[in-house]
Amino acid sequence: MNSFTLERAQSVEKAIGAGGKFIAGGTTLVDLLKLGVETPPRLVDITRLPLAQLEELPNGGLRVGAMVRNSDLAHHPLVLERYPVLSLALLSGASPQLRNMATTGGNLLQRTRCPYFRDPTYANCNKRNPGAGCAALEGHHRAMAVLGTSDHCIATHPSDMCVAMTALEATIFIEGPKGKRSVSIDDFYKLPGETPHIENVLEPGELITHVELPPAAKGQTYLKLRDRASYEFALASAAVVAQVEGGHVRSVRIALGGVGTRPWRSHEAEKALAGKAATPANFKLAAEAALKDAKPREENGFKVELARRCLARALKTATA
Ligand code: SF4
Repeated sequence: MNSFTLERAQSVEKAIGAGGKFIAGGTTLVDLLKLGVETPPRLVDITRLPLAQLEELPNGGLRVGAMVRNSDLAHHPLVLERYPVLSLALLSGASPQLRNMATTGGNLLQRTRCPYFRDPTYANCNKRNPGAGCAALEGHHRAMAVLGTSDHCIATHPSDMCVAMTALEATIFIEGPKGKRSVSIDDFYKLPGETPHIENVLEPGELITHVELPPAAKGQTYLKLRDRASYEFALASAAVVAQVEGGHVRSVRIALGGVGTRPWRSHEAEKALAGKAATPANFKLAAEAALKDAKPREENGFKVELARRCLARALKTATA
């Protein structure tokens, strides 16, 4: 591991002005430091910042501080009552020990599990070494993405929480050297394109302070399919937030995990289902719409059908 200095920030302003890489729970960053993937000369510990509050908003939504731990978020009564999709997603990720450490802000900034990204002995990783190529294209890519890929990177976004937050249309609040701003979660993540090393819209020195969730429809679920039943990343997952009236889908928001280079909002599937009868046949049509632009490679073609079936089943559960 490279040597670095560590400073504990006493306020958001001081953290932003410290000019280092922020560390909170460390469940992603410490791994990457040990692997030599991340080599920051300076770390700024933000664990003492007053960002761990979870508050109800006047409109019935929820404000979640960036330092709220994944376990606390998953088990909070308001989340269990109003955002079960988020609780299900959080509890399907990692392990209890990791969820006790991992924070909301850190989960939003999880890095990919692409094995070539995490192993610096492979030079050809555009995400780690821009312009160096992509070892996964011709290497092992069974777990890689089929949506949002480019010729420069096919790495899957690993988070479960972010998929649920995408279906919930979360807004991310940011503070930085130029002031405060907010951005919808759908606009927060970038597609890899020709610059897979740029994963989101955060500028240097900017810190996520909190997330806001608007009120959501009651029909919710998160379904995650994976190689083993716990402590494993999704091969395909689906988050659904739906409202059904008189047997018809009045509104629906759909996001997929495990198949996209970012948490994957499927406006195509939503459009295919809105106003339609809540039937298995229409769920299948929506699932086909969600995957119509999939670009599988040799080893991960199975993900297309897996994701279709995952979404169709999640739609059935959420609209029941
Ligand atoms: Fe690197 Fe992306 Fe290729 Fe993986 S898929 S080796 S992260 S460029």
